[in-house]
Formats: sequence, structure tokens, C-alpha cells
Amino acid sequence: MGGTEQEYVREAFDSNWIAPLGPNVNGFEKAIETFVGGDIHAACLSSGTAALHLALELLGVGPGDEVLCQSFTFSASANPIAYLGATPVFVDSEPETWNISPALLEEAIQTRLKTGKKPKAIIAVHLYGMPYQHSAIREIAEKYSIPVVEDSAEALGSTYKGQSCGTLGDIGILSFNGNKIITTSGGGALLTRHAEWKEKAVFLSTQARDVAPHYQHSHIGYNYRMSNVLAGIGRGQMEVLPERVAARRRNFEVYQSELSGVPGLEFLPEPAGAFSNRWLTTVLTPSFETRERIRLALEEENIESRPLWKPMHLQPVFSATPAYVNGVSEDLFSRGLCLPSGSNLTETDLERVMGIIKKTLL
Ligand SMILES: *Cc1c(COP(=O)(O)O)cnc(C)c1O
Repeated sequence: MGGTEQEYVREAFDSNWIAPLGPNVNGFEKAIETFVGGDIHAACLSSGTAALHLALELLGVGPGDEVLCQSFTFSASANPIAYLGATPVFVDSEPETWNISPALLEEAIQTRLKTGKKPKAIIAVHLYGMPYQHSAIREIAEKYSIPVVEDSAEALGSTYKGQSCGTLGDIGILSFNGNKIITTSGGGALLTRHAEWKEKAVFLSTQARDVAPHYQHSHIGYNYRMSNVLAGIGRGQMEVLPERVAARRRNFEVYQSELSGVPGLEFLPEPAGAFSNRWLTTVLTPSFETRERIRLALEEENIESRPLWKPMHLQPVFSATPAYVNGVSEDLFSRGLCLPSGSNLTETDLERVMGIIKKTLL
């Protein structure tokens, strides 16, 4: 926590706004809108997953539809497709950003069109905070008139050609889960340039109540709005977001400058125009065996590290799902490792981690 969170939470208690609405929710939304810029409307929700669910619903995704989705991601990017009775179609990554490959995306669209089914949306992800190639994806999306849902759950504070991640897609989403760069313990937001889409997201997230003195419903709604107590935490967290981004980027710089001299270890550089919040520092090792040697040596010292996300097309739950693959995400999954990346790591902590890695590879 940054320090001022408890004051905002206390305000919620003092004013008795203990509800999924109130001044902190409005204040948190305003703070997000100011931070990301670009005439964006933010709707604070109970999770990033809920935001993705509502984003797809706003775009009209329903039973029998297909949605193109980056395969190399966390399962929460894809699960909401299934909530709506639609089918994910997974698309592999490009080596430059580790995110959705524009070439493969276009191939997938053309193949799906030949089967007579036009995909309803594209879900692209800024994995580990690294922006996907927005210009190329945007161009394809416009060529085929398919809207883009931008999963920016890991990328608050990242920018692409100077524009905030979360504001690039037709709809963007953020997550404030406990492991993200800022947190409300659990929470998320939907970002859109269209005021009426925000209104509709808020309407759906608060049980879809029609305007009437009694409880009347013409739509199926959800209980997805953020609590005013948690939004108080979010307001405090927004005040330290720039510091958090700086801390995560410093972790990366330290790891990279000291470990890139170690034969076989590679770090993902920022392509031109990309600024990553470096949510997690990831490293590529020469082989699965080396990756495991490092991971287990760290574990031996009670230091947690983790393999990169397992691609969705390799997940048992999605084994029957169509996928367009090129081997990139499978290779990353096999050789890559997320290093300790907390915002509060000290130089000494980082030195300790790097010492173990160097010793393992000697
Ligand atoms: C965390 C995360 C989500 C889901 O956010 P929650 O707030 O945990 O529901 C979605 N996509 C990605 C890529 C994530 O990392």
C-alpha cells in the first residue's frame, strides 16, 4: 500500500457509504480517466474478468459466436467468451512482443470467413505489461470490421506511441487484483470512449434495473460493480502508480544489466514506440532444463519464481478449441521464467536472486 488508502477507506466508513457506489467509486474512476487521458470513460467493476465479460456483451457476443483471442495469456482473457456461450479461437504470438501475431491473426480471420463465420471480436493482451503491436492489429481489425477488446490487466502505466494502454481498443479493461501493479485486493475497470457504453456497463453491472420506483428488469444483469470501500483503496493506489511503474522498471533494468552477460539468458527489449510498465521481469533461458534448474535453485532458497503463462491452446479445458499456432508461445512457455518482480524488492533482494541464478549457470 502507498499510505493514503486508509484515509479514503475511513471516509467511506465515516460517511456510511458501504455499498457498490459512492464518492470513492466516482473518485477512483475520475483518477483513472485523468491518468490514462484521451477522453476515456472508466467504469469500476468487481474484477478484470467481469470487465471482459461486460465488454464482450456490449459488443454483442452471444451463443454460437466465435471470438479471436491471444493464446499466450492468463485464462481470464478467454473464460468470459465461454460464459457467453461463444467459442474462443486462439491465435499464437509474435517473437517481438510475445503478444498476438498480426500475420497469424489475419490468417485466422481469413480462414474463419471461409467457413462462413465472421469472428465477433478480437481479444489482444499486453502480456507482462508489454504493449501488443497496436497499429498492425488496428489495421487488420478495421480491414475486416471486427472490434478489439484490449486486455490491459497487466499493463496499467504502459504506453504505445505515447498513448496509454487500456485506451487503444474499442473497449479496454484493467485489473486491480492482488498481484497487479496496483491493487484494490480485487477489482477491475472497463474503459471506453463512448459515454453510452460506460452507462450500459454500469447498468448491467448493477443488476440491470429499469428506471421505475419498483424493481423492474428487461435485461439479465450482473452484480459486478466495485465496492465504495475497495474504490477507496484504489484512490490511494493511483497516487503511487508512477512510483510503482518506476520500481518495476528498475527491477528489469537491474536484472537485465547484470544477467544479460550470462550466456544464454535473454530479455525482451521494448520495440520502437513501446513503453512497458515491466509488471513482471521475465527471462528466456536456453532450454526447459535450464529453466527448471534455475526455478528449483531459487525454490531451494525459498524464493518463488514461475514459468511463463501456459498458452490457452495447450490447456486441457480448451483442448477441443480451434487454434492458429506457430510455435512461439509453446517455446516461450518451455524456456521462460518470471523472476521475483515486486515493487518493494531491494537491491539486496535482487542481488540475492541474481547470485543464485549465476551460480546455477556456472
Ligand atoms: C489478471 C488478469 C485478468 C483478470 O483480472 P481479474 O481482476 O483477476 O479478474 C485478465 N487478463 C489478464 C491478462 C490478467 O493478467
